[in-house]
Amino acid sequence: MKYCMQCGSEYQDGVKECADCPGSTLVDAETMRQRNVAPPGEGDTRKFVRAATADDPFTAEDYARLLQLERIPVFIRPRRTGTVDVLTTGTLEPWWEIMVGEEFLERATQLLAREKAELDATAEEAARAAEEEERETEGSAPPSSSL
Ligand SMILES: [Zn+2]
Repeated sequence: MKYCMQCGSEYQDGVKECADCPGSTLVDAETMRQRNVAPPGEGDTRKFVRAATADDPFTAEDYARLLQLERIPVFIRPRRTGTVDVLTTGTLEPWWEIMVGEEFLERATQLLAREKAELDATAEEAARAAEEEERETEGSAPPSSSL
């Protein structure tokens, strides 16, 4: 069996081109998998698991983009903390689940841990820079009464 790279349609091995996508390439199932496009019928066997959570949609999208760059199948699932979670976390804030293909979990977890560390470092740096700027502004600004 061969599959259209563009639309995923299934074809006999002898077929050279997808009827729906002129100029498209037909590839075997293995190549299709490597491109993270699930051939029809195999897509629903892939399990998605939670690789990380995010407190805001921007972080969630950042994570998803990062994983997509690594060709890891990913989707974001928005959640709202329910009654049960309130008991454990004490919060009603919405949060986001980063779901990845089960077989990519380890890699995704590593990538996201690194990304999170970077994001945290950037946030800390920004906070420090803002603090310093504030101090400098205070120190260098001439008192208005001296003019
Ligand atoms: Zn096609």
